[in-house]
Amino acid sequence: MSPEQLRRYLNYYQDLGVKNIYRRASAAVEIPAELPPLEPAGDTLAKISEDIGDCRRCRLCEGRSKIVFGSGNENARLVFVGEGPGADEDAQGLPFVGRAGQLLTQMIENTAAKEGIPIHRPDVYICNVVKCRPPENRAPQPDEMEICGQFLARQLMALRPRAICALGSTAAKALLATKDGVTRMRGRWHKWRDIPVMVTYHPSYLLRAYNQNAKREAREDLKTVLHFVYD
Ligand code: URA
Repeated sequence: MSPEQLRRYLNYYQDLGVKNIYRRASAAVEIPAELPPLEPAGDTLAKISEDIGDCRRCRLCEGRSKIVFGSGNENARLVFVGEGPGADEDAQGLPFVGRAGQLLTQMIENTAAKEGIPIHRPDVYICNVVKCRPPENRAPQPDEMEICGQFLARQLMALRPRAICALGSTAAKALLATKDGVTRMRGRWHKWRDIPVMVTYHPSYLLRAYNQNAKREAREDLKTVLHFVYD
């Protein structure tokens, strides 16, 4: 078993409430063969949402109104991953419905139209690294990302898109385990497991007026992604 597989098994049991594991003095860690896989066979978005339930696995549950699971086409070829719900998303239970969401919708639809690609926002799938709104819109903390990350991984495995677009540094960190910032990562392909990932700026960042250059770069990134996925 690779260290990554072992880490994921241990995360799974930690999430189930298992706080301690014991290692035999003389042997390598032995994991019973019948442990359930992290992404169960035949997993579906409905099953994942059911497993999230009325989640109390981390502190973010304390301030949330609604869990924001994700929305869009369940057969989408392209998935956008953001950071976490803001106030509008928390109130409606839907991702990217506030100002940043409107910009994201506009960017997807305008770039697709300009490039002659016949897709609209409902054709893609959109979700976040964490499903509950962090207080004061702060960035999610590592343990919150870790706990919620198993559900993001299951969503991505169930959707199996042709490509993922990571919006901003939290999504890039969650998917690519990188410390590099978006400026260094954007504009080229990375991989989450075997799925190509494009990193680009978060729409909230682009909303700041001085970011004309970043806006242009984000449109370029989106163009690359849309052609890769839909040509
Ligand atoms: N920002 C995000 O990262 N996600 C949302 O759903 C909304 C704003």
